[in-house]
Amino acid sequence: MNRKSTITKEQIRRWLRETDWRRLDTLFGRADRVRRDHVGDEVHLRGLVEISSHCQRDCLYCGLRRQNRILSRYRLSAEQILACARRAVHYGYGTVVLQSGEDSGIRREWLTEVIRQLKRQTHLAVTLSLGERDRADLAAWRHAGADRYLLRFETANAHLYNRIHPPRRPGLPDRFDLLRTLRQLGYEVGSGVMVGIPGQTIDDLADDIEWFGRLDLDMIGLGPFLAHPHTPLGQEYAEASDRPADPRQVANSELMTYKAIALVRLVCPDANIPSTTALASLNPQNGREEGLRCGANVIMPNLTPPAYRRQYEIYPAKACLQEEPGRFDQQLKQRIAALGRRVGVGPGAAPHYLERRKAEVPS
Ligand code: SAH
Repeated sequence: MNRKSTITKEQIRRWLRETDWRRLDTLFGRADRVRRDHVGDEVHLRGLVEISSHCQRDCLYCGLRRQNRILSRYRLSAEQILACARRAVHYGYGTVVLQSGEDSGIRREWLTEVIRQLKRQTHLAVTLSLGERDRADLAAWRHAGADRYLLRFETANAHLYNRIHPPRRPGLPDRFDLLRTLRQLGYEVGSGVMVGIPGQTIDDLADDIEWFGRLDLDMIGLGPFLAHPHTPLGQEYAEASDRPADPRQVANSELMTYKAIALVRLVCPDANIPSTTALASLNPQNGREEGLRCGANVIMPNLTPPAYRRQYEIYPAKACLQEEPGRFDQQLKQRIAALGRRVGVGPGAAPHYLERRKAEVPS
């Protein structure tokens, strides 16, 4: 468990059930203060580049799933990725995040070279989010200079996880094992879950939040589950909307996501926590700001070339489809200033990571 956690499991459960806004304001205010005390007023911006929409997996929630034959697929070239990274530098971002479906077409050697070029040509921190890869791949990329890896465990309820995330082959290491591997390799490690997956109960979500502390994560990303019509879970969600809601089911709402962000901040005070695009998709006007006001300290503006964005449809109506990078960047910086916060400078590693590395690697 994260030693700095300031909240118990029972309190987490109670807050997740709370609906009174006035009381919730005290939770959000407390999370905001903990955020300020532990990670400061800087909002770190990470340029997100969706490098491939090919995927071998069939996750029941995700629009990139292999069986979604309607989606046309793309894979960016090394030169296209480097051009996106140069835009990140131009906007003053400190990090580029390379994300994709689980794509074996992304070869170890090829990506190793892309990472080397990124490190040679820019000062950016490099974050990878490429799904479940072999240890040898992860080690090679770390060796080439990759700094961070994001791999959400999606839900800690093993039964629900196995249903929505069919394994590649039974017996392969699961995402918890991979998170440990990433940590051993020296990555700054991020994980997270979706809020409101059909079948997820309040107790499940409280378990997830407790797990973030137990895994001692450096970064934690949370977003609402958004139903995609061309996925089994999206269809199930649409059908269930005709029936009375199960009172144990977690709502995939804005409010529930804010509560979860605030609680994660209390469990992991010095982790980096993004206010996610999925949240902004529920509330394009000010979802990102609200996330920043209840515990989050990172935003990931999308730098994928606009022509490809529609082909990276994890869920429908992604907020970033409407966002032209230049204009979005300007507005975002104004909005951050209006909150009384500052744009982070430099790579913006989580204080949690810097501290644990100091303890692990004797100088
Ligand atoms: N292939 C990579 C990256 C996936 S996209 C991987 O599996 O790690 C990143 C995240 O988007 C996923 O981890 C998941 O939590 C989220 N996501 C996928 N489908 C979603 C949906 N329908 N609604 C909300 N979030 C979704």
